Amino acid sequence: MAKSSKQSTSKQSASSKKTNDQRQQGSQEPMLMELFYEELKDIYWAEKHLTKALPKMAKAASTEELKDAINEHLEITQTQVGRLEKVFELLGKKAQAKKCEAMEGLTKEADGVIEDTEDGSATRDVALILAAQKVEHYEIATYGGLATLASTLGLDEIHDLLGETLAEEKEADTTLTDIAENSINYEAAEESEEEE
Ligand code: ZN
Ligand code: FE
Ligand code: FE
Ligand code: FE
Repeated sequence: MAKSSKQSTSKQSASSKKTNDQRQQGSQEPMLMELFYEELKDIYWAEKHLTKALPKMAKAASTEELKDAINEHLEITQTQVGRLEKVFELLGKKAQAKKCEAMEGLTKEADGVIEDTEDGSATRDVALILAAQKVEHYEIATYGGLATLASTLGLDEIHDLLGETLAEEKEADTTLTDIAENSINYEAAEESEEEE
């Protein structure tokens, strides 16, 4: 822990611009580091929230294939929560969650499509895949940006940890696309609404 914070301080001051130095005068740490920490709290909340939302989505899925894919990503998500705790530790900061309004909104959308589609239908799965991919893309944007920021801040180990999660989110997105393209979308195209 001591090693990493020492590393970050030295690299940071080395790369700081004059204007930043002036702005930082009198404060404990660079503004960018503060932003980085706040953004970590946001994605930490989001990942923890997903460990509760993904089981609901898996349960609502019509096919075993989609259930399995979501459950597999649930396990990965739990690993990602632990990885973020490691990131906080490396920063020498408390692991703290701050509500992510975007992830709350995205999971509300997932709840909404479950309500709006028929149990057991392929259309349900198409809707769930769309909702899940919106979640993955939010995560891809977040981890991509945060990994880059970690590099800027000279936090190489943290950069690598965030990069690992980024790769997992991209893989989840690809898996969902494959399921949609290989079967579910075509099955759904054959479905018509039942008479009311
Ligand atoms: Zn996430
Ligand atoms: Fe994740
Ligand atoms: Fe957020
Ligand atoms: Fe994910």
